[in-house]
Amino acid sequence: MAINIDEMAVFCKKKGFVYPSSEIYGGFSGFFDYGPLGAQLKRNIMNSWWKYHVQDKEDMVGIDGSIICNPKVWVASGHVGGFGDVMVACKKCNENMRADHIVEDQLGVQAEGLSSEDFDKLIKEKDVKCTKCGSDELGDCKVFNLLFKTFVGPVEGDKAVAYLRGETAQLIFANFKNVVETSRLKLPFGIAQMGKAFRNEIAPRNFLFRLREFEQMEIEYFVHPDKEKECPYVDEIKDYELLVYSAEMQENEKEPVLMKASVALEKGIITNGWHAFWLVTETKWFEELGACKENFRIRQHRKDEMAHYSSDCWDLEYKFPFGWKELQGIADRSDFDLQQHMKHSKKDMSIFDEETKKKVVPFVVAEPSLGVDRAFLVFMFDAYSTRKDEKGNEVTVLKLNPKIAPVQVAVLPLINKLQDKAREVFATVKNNFNCFYDKSGSVGRRYARMDEIGTPICVTVDFDTLEKGVLTLRNRDTAKQVRVKIEDLNEKLNLFFAGEDFENLGTAVEK
Ligand SMILES: [Zn+2]
Repeated sequence: MAINIDEMAVFCKKKGFVYPSSEIYGGFSGFFDYGPLGAQLKRNIMNSWWKYHVQDKEDMVGIDGSIICNPKVWVASGHVGGFGDVMVACKKCNENMRADHIVEDQLGVQAEGLSSEDFDKLIKEKDVKCTKCGSDELGDCKVFNLLFKTFVGPVEGDKAVAYLRGETAQLIFANFKNVVETSRLKLPFGIAQMGKAFRNEIAPRNFLFRLREFEQMEIEYFVHPDKEKECPYVDEIKDYELLVYSAEMQENEKEPVLMKASVALEKGIITNGWHAFWLVTETKWFEELGACKENFRIRQHRKDEMAHYSSDCWDLEYKFPFGWKELQGIADRSDFDLQQHMKHSKKDMSIFDEETKKKVVPFVVAEPSLGVDRAFLVFMFDAYSTRKDEKGNEVTVLKLNPKIAPVQVAVLPLINKLQDKAREVFATVKNNFNCFYDKSGSVGRRYARMDEIGTPICVTVDFDTLEKGVLTLRNRDTAKQVRVKIEDLNEKLNLFFAGEDFENLGTAVEK
């Protein structure tokens, strides 16, 4: 990782990955638009997630709920009453700030779990100042609700108020009975959903990291309440190594330790096999799509951070240029959510368990919830690299995994005269791969452009193509070249995208 978050935002804009939303009107804080390459990369990330978590799993199904739903859902979930950040306003310049941000930034303390009253005390006693004007005259802390309100139907007013969903997860709970009855699921099982969610953040910051409109990929994983710790899949993940940062290590100011999942379980650091299973599963998903494993760790919540319904919680964290930050939390939620919806809807949420022949309200043992935009940042940071070109200039190479690269194959005629042949070649591969045709500029410039946007393979049509029927393939990461026959092109590309080494695809070109 060679650049900071602001430089990443500049790079993303310059190359057509992400733009500030409605930029011609000055942008809109907390909102971004994905450009041609970003839209494709984001779609590839989401498709990979869906395949890995839903299509490839026997115990998983997916739904796609509505963004606006009956507002009672958000009353039952607790979002209307308690989904908020503590806000403090400057009396001098009226700047609104998140109390946890200014306390963490200025006092260097962990602010998670603190109440409005705690913040008031800290801000007054420790002389915390306005981040904008430096005044120490700050008002009282207030909880600010993060749900976006809207009106449904032609009349505005309290009765027409509804909310843009603050997370996708509640739609999973609200649809729980429908899904179970129509999918013939047996415990344990998971329900997944991807889609937009909205939070009226007081202080959006760090580019795509904290947004007001964002996209989530969420799972609620349900187990029998009496078998909360019986994970049948522990054997599959036991040898996988994780960088573990337990509550005990944090309290005693020790460093995180790399250990196998089985060791963390044996030592009682991770107490539930399901948590180990999901922490490994999620880290592996990132790793298989090209993220650098050394930038990930799992961190246990300390007692003062934990939600009241949760008995243990682990975060999967990533080392961003602005510090270790949460990507997703793996927590016990017991039957908290289903019970809330049972109470508020007066509908039975219990299901019949064939094994015990009893009706049970399942427990949620893990809620792996990941922001697509955060995952996008992870892949961009881990792919971003530079190298010296032949003239000694530093050039950018975006080493995105071929599985998610927005352009997989670029077809380039060496000179304009070869266009007819190049279009023929393009036509033979475009149905199998996400391809791009580029005819303008020197071939060196075109290679450099493809390196910058992460295209793993360039196929060049040159005079040998006309005379001998061979093409030159160029690898993004090594700049090495091999020659292959036209009729073998699709097969060779398939091999490469299935993991074959580039050098084995054809005859090496000597420079
Ligand atoms: Zn101020």
